[in-house]
Amino acid sequence: MGEKLAIFGGDPVRDSMLPYGKQTIDDQDIQKVVETLKSDYITTGPALREFEKGVADYVGAAYAVAFSNGTAALHAACFAAGIGKGDEVITTPLTFVASANCVWYTGGRPVFADVDPQTYNIDPVSIESLVTRKTKAIIPVDYSGQPADYEKIQAIADKYELVIIEDAAHAIGAEYRGKKVGSYSDMTMFSFHPVKHITTGEGGVIATNNRDYYEKLMMFRTHGITRDVEKLLEKRHPWEYEMQFLGYNYRMTDIQAALGSSQLKKLDRFVAKRRKYVKDYNEAFATMNYIGIQEQLADTASSYHLYVIRLDGPLKGLRKEVFEALRAENIGVNVHYIPVHTQPYYKERGYTKGLCPVAEHVYEQILSLPLYSGMSPRDVQDVVKAVKKVTAYYVNNAGGS
Ligand SMILES: *Cc1c(COP(=O)(O)O)cnc(C)c1O
Repeated sequence: MGEKLAIFGGDPVRDSMLPYGKQTIDDQDIQKVVETLKSDYITTGPALREFEKGVADYVGAAYAVAFSNGTAALHAACFAAGIGKGDEVITTPLTFVASANCVWYTGGRPVFADVDPQTYNIDPVSIESLVTRKTKAIIPVDYSGQPADYEKIQAIADKYELVIIEDAAHAIGAEYRGKKVGSYSDMTMFSFHPVKHITTGEGGVIATNNRDYYEKLMMFRTHGITRDVEKLLEKRHPWEYEMQFLGYNYRMTDIQAALGSSQLKKLDRFVAKRRKYVKDYNEAFATMNYIGIQEQLADTASSYHLYVIRLDGPLKGLRKEVFEALRAENIGVNVHYIPVHTQPYYKERGYTKGLCPVAEHVYEQILSLPLYSGMSPRDVQDVVKAVKKVTAYYVNNAGGS
């Protein structure tokens, strides 16, 4: 008999809840924000331009356009890609709803490709099987921080003339075949929500090498307005601006951007920390054959937004029990993600269970463990201890399938 689980009244491994993800903000970050608050511009000023240049340089893209959040950035990318009524866009169901919702915003319809059973990333074979004459774009998601299989996806995009909008909300700092994520897709989205690698509170960026996309994104962010004299359709007065299409107010403030620039300086350190903790987890779980670890392709260097385990063998079918028992131990486990096509909004629109059997199957077994740069090695050991404690109990006592 092992130690009594907290869920049955035993002592929890930790006294306070360890979240699955959290921002790491220090005094230097706060100082930068305060300086911006005291400056002349608190929106659309120099701090915003500095942040955009910083992100573009870091990811190796010609341009970066910042938005109020990652979802707004994806909306803008769908607009720039020309997604409209009747168009289809292929994405993965094992993602946050934003990856697919952005397609509806511009009148298109998301189509869900299945995932690879080992990496959980979108499966290029499934993508190609779903291409129709209506297909306009692919939105691969770099699930958990591992880049999707870009060369295969690019080959499909080239063959059928599709735009690639890479959802790299999980993958800033990651690399595919030695190339930084953000440097190779038509457009790449990064999110700066507090659980992501670096934060601006709320915020997002589209990185691109394409001048035409860049200009559309810039205008989309601010009502479809241009002040560029060269671009005015009807030149009249020097003070005029023109609204040329229906855009939105999706601007990021300089307050957020100042935080972002300060955070960006620490990104490599944050990623190194995440990689170190992932190594610790992998080593701890290597001998526990009922805990499956996500496969990492030789071509990719993940930046690890998430650490996802898979409950195998005798733990199959006990995800709910293990989830609740770990929460009781004060380990803030989570599940990423409920397959998007099984959400009520999607069901109402004709998407059915069974559409993506691999993703649905993977979903039943996965659990995300805490992973963020502000964790201490001690926190990591607490997670390992709790996982060992809880899984030992269920392997020995619960008699799962
Ligand atoms: C976080 C995230 C987004 C964008 O989220 P915002 O909260 O709008 O910045 C999009 N896709 C995925 C996969 C995400 O994890």
